[in-house]
Amino acid sequence: MRIWQIILIFVAEMRRLKKKIYYGACALTFAMLAVVRQCAHVLPDDNPTEDEVVVETAHLPTPSLPKASATPHPIRSVHSYKDCFPDAQDVQIVAAHRWGVRPVRDRAQAEERKDELVFIGSNPYYQIDRGMASSIPYLVPRAALLLQDIGRSYLDSLFVKGVPLHRIIVTSVLRSEEDVRNLQKRNGNASPESCHRFGTTFDIAYNRYAHVGRPVTNDTLKWVLSEVLRDKRQQGRCYIRYEVKQGCFHITTR
Ligand SMILES: [Zn+2]
Repeated sequence: MRIWQIILIFVAEMRRLKKKIYYGACALTFAMLAVVRQCAHVLPDDNPTEDEVVVETAHLPTPSLPKASATPHPIRSVHSYKDCFPDAQDVQIVAAHRWGVRPVRDRAQAEERKDELVFIGSNPYYQIDRGMASSIPYLVPRAALLLQDIGRSYLDSLFVKGVPLHRIIVTSVLRSEEDVRNLQKRNGNASPESCHRFGTTFDIAYNRYAHVGRPVTNDTLKWVLSEVLRDKRQQGRCYIRYEVKQGCFHITTR
């Protein structure tokens, strides 16, 4: 059979099958469209429409930060600093003996006793006084946690009361035997049995603060601090003495 005869037979056959091929192609096209549509429902679109974005964000939780500027919490202070923070040496020294460490000789020995003492020289919630000369920044873990909680509660309170943020300043921490001797040389009245020798006790200034936001110079900062300290004392976490001469709160963990 010659090639032109084969072509003639093929063309005749195609004419005969033309309708069937046409219907077959249509059916195949519809089937493919159905499959593509189904896949589009299963797989999420990489670029959601604007309507879809609105629906999704409507399910996100509302931020729970307090709106300090909207309704600031009131500042009440305490009725009397002396009455609210009366814990004298005889009370505090008992807790210092209970929770404290053996007195440390000097700074080098404090650094060696890492299993008993925590270095508190760097913390976002409070500042160690740059001029702190007669003590070293170490506390027992219980007292270090208390100090951090006071610093954090203070920032929280300032925020909810709408007061510019300030950090408390720690003016005295652990006194080594060397520090105590030097203090006694300068001040004969300095107690050799100070709570500061045991790592349980620290002082927080009430008349100086490290400002984070706009500086505040009136008594507002002291009022808020006294509220925070009163709460910690009432929770049974510490003993506190209001020290008028030193301008600080003298605090021992309990
Ligand atoms: Zn003190």
